[in-house]
Amino acid sequence: MAKHIALALAAHPDDIEFYMAGTLLLLKDAGWEIHCLNLASGNCGSVDRNAAWTRATRRREARRAALVLGAAWHPPLCDDLEIFYEIKPLRRLAAIVRQVKPAIVLTHSPQDYMEDHTNTCRLAVTAAFARGMANFRTVPPRRPIDNDVTVYHAMPHGLCDGLRRPIVPEIFVNTTAVQATKQAALACHRSQKEWLDLSQGMDSYLKSMDELSLAIGKMSGRYRHAEGWRRHSHLGFCSGKADPLRDALGNDTLPNPNYDSSPP
Ligand SMILES: [Zn+2]
Repeated sequence: MAKHIALALAAHPDDIEFYMAGTLLLLKDAGWEIHCLNLASGNCGSVDRNAAWTRATRRREARRAALVLGAAWHPPLCDDLEIFYEIKPLRRLAAIVRQVKPAIVLTHSPQDYMEDHTNTCRLAVTAAFARGMANFRTVPPRRPIDNDVTVYHAMPHGLCDGLRRPIVPEIFVNTTAVQATKQAALACHRSQKEWLDLSQGMDSYLKSMDELSLAIGKMSGRYRHAEGWRRHSHLGFCSGKADPLRDALGNDTLPNPNYDSSPP
């Protein structure tokens, strides 16, 4: 029996707060241990501060946000626009998966608006796949683990793939009850709020997260605020019927009846 541990793997500081934090908070309320890791440092997230200042500031902000979520925090592995599907980050990420032993991995959509997100998704999927392969060497070295893991993909930015086609979730999660805490976690990323406020008007940062969860809620036809998820193939990960997210969150989840017939 896998322990109740969920690991969120995202590209940039604040991506978890945008796309995944509501579900993480609900899992936490259901007694799960939750972990957060953004692969990139966020060093490009400023127009007037240098990379070193931005990297250090965003690291502090991400740690604070993890504290608000009640999540264990893992440091980033590289800088923005430097997330590649290659062996170095894969070995490090696989070590983290073996160490954390998650039953649920939350990550980006395989189709998304930019490559840091899609590369993070590919690294997360392979790191989870490699968890039990004795001959795959991780850095630092960690023993293989044998627990099942179910990988869930978040909704892409803008709810569309890179070719502007809509992406439809398989499962809706009702995040209405935790929306305020999700907002509080996102607000920890103050440096982003400041420069987006300046460039896009007051509180655009918090407002766009609100609009996103309201839009997914509307898609569900039932919930006010929601997050949407799609399960990765079970092959090499878990049993075909495994859906630990629905098992854990029960009435706060809703399958999408239109999912199977939707375009990829
Ligand atoms: Zn991002």
